[in-house]
Amino acid sequence: MNDRVENVIIVGSGPAGYTAALYTARANLEPFVVEGFQWGGLLQQTTDVENYPGFPQGMMGPELMQKFRDQAERFGARLETDDVTKVELSRDGGLHRVWVGDQEHVGRTVVLAMGAQHRKLGVPGELELAGRGVSYCATCDAAFFRDRPTIIVGGGDSAMEEAMFLSKFSSTVSIVHRRDEFRASKIMLDRARAIPNIEWLTPYTIDKLTNLEGAHQGQLEVAHLRNTVDSSTRELPTAGAFIAIGHVPQSELVAGQVELDENGYVVT
Ligand code: NAP
Repeated sequence: MNDRVENVIIVGSGPAGYTAALYTARANLEPFVVEGFQWGGLLQQTTDVENYPGFPQGMMGPELMQKFRDQAERFGARLETDDVTKVELSRDGGLHRVWVGDQEHVGRTVVLAMGAQHRKLGVPGELELAGRGVSYCATCDAAFFRDRPTIIVGGGDSAMEEAMFLSKFSSTVSIVHRRDEFRASKIMLDRARAIPNIEWLTPYTIDKLTNLEGAHQGQLEVAHLRNTVDSSTRELPTAGAFIAIGHVPQSELVAGQVELDENGYVVT
């Protein structure tokens, strides 16, 4: 164990984690931030961030997170680029314990800022074909699908953003959504609707993802769709399936130690 007793240990490094780091650093608390191996949270996988106040021209997600990080560091936040493996919160006002691998850290305060991860569809073929056509990040993977047809699953702003980015590479991008109405904001929907190689397939869900032989191996070639109104099915040839159906909180480190709401988010 490290002998040092930290004033503040911050777990996570999305906007919440680095904001906590900035403010506690400026309060001379010398925060210790375990920022995760892939620091910067989900905005690292985003292209244009247009709705963050103060940047009228927008900003790329990774650039924004680099600025958050630099600003926290400038005032003395200490960053560890590794994952927290275990947290033991004190229930009696004593010290909290946070492990990074075998290394134990103790602190008077722990800030939980673990954020969320991409929600999975949970259909056959999704996990087996991940990285072989199934992806959760168009910014990361769109270039692999140049001149080939792809689908986006989802109807929120993330789905629109992913579709617009992907449309610059793919021959066609089919947005597969389970309802005829979209949760996405009007401005994002209008932009996506104006792109000629984006097609709209509603109301459909995905039954399974397979190769041409119908097996969950090799490379993704077919998305098997089901109409949510009349239950009819269709097979859609596709080289890539980008899943953009929201997020689930990463609260498992503290499950059983603090109250979680019905969606798994820590109740604040
Ligand atoms: P979201 O708004 O929660 O949308 C998730 C979408 O996935 C919904 O259309 C939902 O369908 C669908 N879905 C959920 N579970 C599904 C399942 N099991 N099978 C099929 N479809 C499923 O999530 P998001 O798009 O990631 O956006 C999250 C937040 O970030 C929002 O507040 C959004 O405005 C914001 N955001 C903003 C921007 C931007 O402004 N540039 C970009 C990205 C995200 P239903 O509608 O039927 O429930």
